[in-house]
Amino acid sequence: MVSEIFSDNEINSDKIELKRVNPYLNINKFKRKTFSIKDEFKKLLAGDTIALGKAITLIESSNPYHKKKANNIIKKCLPYSGKSIRIGITGVPGVGKSTFIETLGLYLINEGHKVAVLTIDPSSEISKGSILGDKIRMENLSKQKNAFIRSTPSGGNLGGVARTTRETMLLCEAAGFDIIIIETLGVGQSETTIKKLTDVFVLLVLPNSGDEIQGIKRGIMEMSDFILITKADGDNLQASYITYNQMLNIVNLLPKKDNNWTPKVILTSAKTNLGIKETWSEIYNYINYIKQNNFFYENRKKQNTYWMMETLNNIINQYINNNKKIKKLINKLEKKLENNKISPFEAAEYLFLKIFKS
Ligand code: GDP
Repeated sequence: MVSEIFSDNEINSDKIELKRVNPYLNINKFKRKTFSIKDEFKKLLAGDTIALGKAITLIESSNPYHKKKANNIIKKCLPYSGKSIRIGITGVPGVGKSTFIETLGLYLINEGHKVAVLTIDPSSEISKGSILGDKIRMENLSKQKNAFIRSTPSGGNLGGVARTTRETMLLCEAAGFDIIIIETLGVGQSETTIKKLTDVFVLLVLPNSGDEIQGIKRGIMEMSDFILITKADGDNLQASYITYNQMLNIVNLLPKKDNNWTPKVILTSAKTNLGIKETWSEIYNYINYIKQNNFFYENRKKQNTYWMMETLNNIINQYINNNKKIKKLINKLEKKLENNKISPFEAAEYLFLKIFKS
């Protein structure tokens, strides 16, 4: 929590004094340390992950003071952001996402990259708890100097979580992370959200020798730029090849994408490293391809507009929910709706005129 880092008084001013833990300490012996948002931003820009973590905590806070500070930092970071490759990864729980991301992340770090992994856990919206729970994920990756791993806090709605993830991504980019992986559990609407946050969308699927294709929604397949079959090792190998061929058939039947890209299907194993290097080189080729045909830039432009309108919708909803007069009016209209005295469309138009034209 931010309150553990900054008290309200401290947040009120840019200068933040470090608190004394031991009241009997002779403070004159030590020079007092102070730091400011400006200093924190400088540290963040230099790649200091502690400063990055603090700034993200400000973004996640619902306290208006923190929000103001967060907006300040985001604004400062904007000119330094946008230079990363943003990869979205999805797949059902157990498909091997965290193991795959850890293996790919370690490979990329070895290649000289800085990798940030942001996890969106939509289960937290439904259950107010997390499927991920306290399970330690990506332990090896998290120990790396050039890795940064962060999960969205549980309990928020998907819209709010997406916003914080997007802002977190911008801060990570300013801190020098050139590869951002956004991971979501294959539940609910989170894939669509991830698609709107990233440049490339990767679906992980399990090897399966059955005739049925794992109940993967067609829409998710259509969104995917890459379909990776995980755990292609040991006893799974036979089933992996079957799934590989099934997936190849499917992607060839999918409607052509706006950018003319046919999704690539790759066999992978985080255990034997099969397909890890290939996955990265294919993603890299894909990014070059969409940069050449301008899709990369157009897509990011569209995403910016999308998030502006999304945020506007949220602000309007919040305004309506917090306004007692409007709430009362809605209650009255609900009664009229119940008695069939007005249609929902008429009621909505009436409300619109009352809210925006008065
Ligand atoms: P997630 O829930 O999608 O993040 O899946 P995990 O990464 O936690 O993996 C689920 C299980 O699959 C774990 O027991 C892993 O050890 C196992 N697993 C992950 N990747 C591989 C792999 O490449 N090969 C094999 N054989 N098992 C794997």
